[in-house]
Amino acid sequence: MFIKETTEIHLHQRESKLGNVHNFKRRRSVYHFKCDCCDKEFMRDKSKVTPSRASNNFHHVCAKCDVHKYAQQVGVNMRKIYKLDASSIEVKI
Ligand SMILES: [Zn+2]
Repeated sequence: MFIKETTEIHLHQRESKLGNVHNFKRRRSVYHFKCDCCDKEFMRDKSKVTPSRASNNFHHVCAKCDVHKYAQQVGVNMRKIYKLDASSIEVKI
């Protein structure tokens, strides 16, 4: 689940070739998501997420959970909703 987008400001220092210390800041946008698998909140860099995925049209799974296992479970639930049988025992002609 997509929650919000925030901006973090990081302060850095660098020393010039003349020995002066310059302060500079860099902004970084972060997306906050709630894991659909374990319900914990996690963050991703905006630059590493496709913009269209920052919505609730997609499922979001954190790094600690198994994405493939979660995707399988979503498929199972959808088959239950639409009453599709995926078993190999019954053969329909
Ligand atoms: Zn998770």
